[in-house]
Amino acid sequence: MNMINKTAIARDLIEKIKILKKEKNYTILGHNYVIPELQEISDITGDSLQLARLATEIENDRILFLGVDFMAETLKILNPSKKIIVPTKGATCPMANSLTPELIKKFKEKYPDAPVVLYVNSTAKCKALADYTCTSANAVEIAKKIDSEVILFGPDKNLGSYVAEKTGKKIIPIPGDRGYCYVHNRFSIEDVKLAKEKHPDAKIIVHPEAKKEVRDLCEYIGSTGQMMKFPKEDETKEFIIGTEIGMIHKLSKTFKNKKFYPLKELGICNNMKKNNLKNVYEALLFENNEINLTEEIIEKAKIPILNMFKLMEG
Ligand code: SF4
Repeated sequence: MNMINKTAIARDLIEKIKILKKEKNYTILGHNYVIPELQEISDITGDSLQLARLATEIENDRILFLGVDFMAETLKILNPSKKIIVPTKGATCPMANSLTPELIKKFKEKYPDAPVVLYVNSTAKCKALADYTCTSANAVEIAKKIDSEVILFGPDKNLGSYVAEKTGKKIIPIPGDRGYCYVHNRFSIEDVKLAKEKHPDAKIIVHPEAKKEVRDLCEYIGSTGQMMKFPKEDETKEFIIGTEIGMIHKLSKTFKNKKFYPLKELGICNNMKKNNLKNVYEALLFENNEINLTEEIIEKAKIPILNMFKLMEG
């Protein structure tokens, strides 16, 4: 199919999505990592927790969520009475899936006194067994505030090592070596060197899900939310961004007078990219990919999230 045809199809789908969204009264929430066209048709874009919290303030009780499954689950946990649909149930997260309730129970048997802190990038079933959740923005603060020197932390080993480094606490990674985000874990020392050679005046911002050896070479380490603030506070005009490539669109749109380059062109989350204009249109048309969780899971999984909010307020 040639480029002109593709563009015409995309334009047609965007129009149809706008009409259906209005007719059926849906609010579209899109994660920062979805493709630019989907960021454009979203009513709000943000990170997963930002969106889940924002959803509690939206009067509309119909939400179409664009992201991956654990994020849609968090949205449901915090908004149990709302109807939440997704374009595809195939968009999942290998890192979240690397941790299972069975593994958590095993670690808990071995370290019965250690609280379980789970990154929000975890499944609802795992959250239901945790004491606290955390985000990449508040993981260090949460760990500092918890009254224990030993913490079971999962599923991201790299974020866990960052927390250990910043708090001095003993962080036991669950599930261990298998827990990482393949998009961020892929960034290497070589990528940083090459990017610096190509853009010598740029500062490098990297997500804490990157490996320590990469984090150590960068000027700033922050979550996607923190990445959105940094260019505003810093006079530098060019930045190399070490996270999923979708963030380049959002940053470039927000800071029009600054330049953003990806640390690696291949910093792509394939699961996020399973959301596309066609399945978004179909989701609105058929409303059939609804997120359902049992009441028990919702109640249990809500506890560590609320504990996180309480710690953050205290
Ligand atoms: S970017 Fe990484 S953590 Fe986020 S959904 Fe994709 S694989 Fe999971």
